[in-house]
Amino acid sequence: MYKIRGQDDKDLGPFTAVVVRQWISAGRADADTLLLKVGEGEWKPLSQFPEFTKAPVSRDSGPPSQESASLRRNSDSRPASDSTPPVAFLSRLAVTSVGLGAVGLLGVTAVAGLVAGVLALKAIARSGGRLKGTGLAVTGTVLSASMLLVFVPAMSGLIIVPLMQKRQAAADEACLENMRKLNQALHIYAGNHGHQLPDAGNWLDLLAQDRLVVRDGAGLQCPSRSGLSCAYAFNEALSGLDPAQVPGDTVLIFESNLGWNGHGSVEDLADSRHGMQLLIGFADGSVERVPAYQLPQLRWLPVPTP
Ligand SMILES: [Zn+2]
Repeated sequence: MYKIRGQDDKDLGPFTAVVVRQWISAGRADADTLLLKVGEGEWKPLSQFPEFTKAPVSRDSGPPSQESASLRRNSDSRPASDSTPPVAFLSRLAVTSVGLGAVGLLGVTAVAGLVAGVLALKAIARSGGRLKGTGLAVTGTVLSASMLLVFVPAMSGLIIVPLMQKRQAAADEACLENMRKLNQALHIYAGNHGHQLPDAGNWLDLLAQDRLVVRDGAGLQCPSRSGLSCAYAFNEALSGLDPAQVPGDTVLIFESNLGWNGHGSVEDLADSRHGMQLLIGFADGSVERVPAYQLPQLRWLPVPTP
């Protein structure tokens, strides 16, 4: 006779082995259900009772160890009429795998479903018939894998692309800030030198002399282009001019690979650094992102349009 500990921790029974088997068949008891063999005084999970897992119940109640040993020895030779089929528990992992795979939430549960499915298949294979649910485990594994195939590309779209965009935006912002300060430095220089912008040939030397820029400082670097002593060049058409006397939308500084004291014009523009655009500083002090195709149409010469 056996006592069964119910889900509400109440002890039920005692029951005969036949009743316990009915509980198992009905799904009211499983491998983890606690069972007490009356007279033994120790509660154990049902999975540790060979009479309910491995072999059919014997109607005599000899010592359990001998009983199970003899059943195991005789299990192959026992006449079919004398035995009832062994009870197999449905693998919880297999069920879990199907559930997680079906949800597939953002691929996260699909990964768990895939793992659960594979573990379930292993456990079922090792259980020697005590666990069933191979079909479910296969379904869970395949379902989870399919969900991953759907979600991984979707996730890269949803997570990786915005992440890259965020990094790009941060690089754009840092470069914009650098150009604003450099543009400001040029205007301060002009204010200190008779309203004249520096000479294009050594404009950065002059700004550095006046401590308006720091040589090798981060303020002259574009995060999208490393390895240059200065990532920006001066529009040589404005060399020595009064910034207040040129149209405000004239290019003053632009992104270029010329390096320190870099100066020139539209042909000296860097290849596109910020996606398909470059940052440009104008004579009025503003800084803008300009798409590559618009760069040649900017005002590069400080003459008013006719
Ligand atoms: Zn830049």
